[in-house]
Amino acid sequence: QAPVVTVDGPGGSGKGTVTQMLARELGWHLLDSGALYRLTALAAIRQGVALDDESALVDVAATLDVSFEPTPPGEPAKVILAGEDVTSEIRTEICGDNASRVAVMQPVRDALLQRQRDFRQAPGLVADGRDMGTVVFPDAPVKIFLTASAEERARRRYNQLKEAGVDVNMSALLEEIRVRDERDMNRSAAPLKPADDAQVIDSTGLSIKEVLDRCMAAVSQ
Ligand code: C5P
Repeated sequence: QAPVVTVDGPGGSGKGTVTQMLARELGWHLLDSGALYRLTALAAIRQGVALDDESALVDVAATLDVSFEPTPPGEPAKVILAGEDVTSEIRTEICGDNASRVAVMQPVRDALLQRQRDFRQAPGLVADGRDMGTVVFPDAPVKIFLTASAEERARRRYNQLKEAGVDVNMSALLEEIRVRDERDMNRSAAPLKPADDAQVIDSTGLSIKEVLDRCMAAVSQ
């Protein structure tokens, strides 16, 4: 089986950027599992499915018509849902919040499990998420858990949104991050926590380059 590096952690920990760079550096595939939960929430809304209708959501997750198209280095993969480019739409705060609501449902998680495992192909996979090391790829030889303080994560998100020209309120953002962390950590289905054999990297105060170097060191051990 192809090797896997799992990178789990809360939102805004720098995971997205770091996993993209790591995949490029290694020349491996990338799984953005959060995108699958975001897409499930978005597809449900588009199909008129309520976000608390578990059995209908399982159907939506099981039949997601999605493809990830490669883009130039440094850019996130293009995400196509039923023929439509939803790359930026799935990145909104509201879509992230909706994703974390559907992600608490174990049957929805089960419906996405095999689709995630199918990303494991030669020469290797970098898997970004919340439960990559604990549930989806428990046998991964390298597991990283990336964290950062909630304040630092809010600050990074604030800067990202500012750059994108979105008007944001710092304290509202911090509150949203806390609410989402709470939901992700306290749910009974695959709660966010480091795998027993994960290396924990706290990225508070570190540059992306420093985080990447630490991840590469973990991979080459
Ligand atoms: O990482 P991202 O912010 O895109 O994830 C959106 C939401 O999807 C998370 O807040 C989490 O609730 C859920 N998720 C999950 N398991 C994963 C990836 C994401 O439950 N492996």
